[in-house]
Amino acid sequence: MTANATQRHLVVLTGAGISVDSGIRSYRGADGLWEGHRLEEVATPEAWARDPATVWRFYQERRGALAGIEPNAAHRALAEAERRVARGGGSFTLVSQNVDDLHQRAGNDVLAMHGQLLELLCEVCGAVAVDREHLDPHAFVPCGACGFDRLRPNVVWFGELPHHLDAIERAIVRCTDFVAIGTSGVVYPAAGMLAAARELGRRTWVQSLDAPENLDPADRFRPGRAAEVVPGLIDEVLGGRSKGVG
Ligand code: ZN
Repeated sequence: MTANATQRHLVVLTGAGISVDSGIRSYRGADGLWEGHRLEEVATPEAWARDPATVWRFYQERRGALAGIEPNAAHRALAEAERRVARGGGSFTLVSQNVDDLHQRAGNDVLAMHGQLLELLCEVCGAVAVDREHLDPHAFVPCGACGFDRLRPNVVWFGELPHHLDAIERAIVRCTDFVAIGTSGVVYPAAGMLAAARELGRRTWVQSLDAPENLDPADRFRPGRAAEVVPGLIDEVLGGRSKGVG
């Protein structure tokens, strides 16, 4: 290889596993119930229409919890990776399934395919506003643009289409490396992205605590906790911190 080691085109997909080390509770584990509700019972448009007070309380708890958590070493490694790749003339696309704002706080631009907890969406006029202040679990927030009395969290619910799919597809087509971090590997369409990158012949890297269900012999699998593994993984993907062409 004569190209600079960092002149690579990366797509990094992150899931819940990268935020676990920051203390974000997973709602999908064995104890993944909230007040006896399955996630599927509170994260749907139907639930919002039927019982908005309960859905709102669920999301207000999650929105409020963001103030007490911080990005971890894995988030910071990805922010540094974005800067390194940019310096090397490559491209870096971070796609996240997470609705927390830890990547943004670490310094990355993010394609938040499942939306963001800190954003509120008006279903009447389409306005989206960042809101960190209205966290009362029992009070709806009105729309500042049109006055509608009940904004919803700007997150993608079951049955709704993820955001940024076209941009994500374009990034995968042009990437040299696809890196999946902390994803269960079973939630589509994210799970299909890894398969698409493989079919295109890209180098594929998978980091998670345990081998995901869709792991392939071609994947370079790096098990462990994201905060411990990701900094070294990024060095590996980018060809080593000290091996510059000079
Ligand atoms: Zn509105």
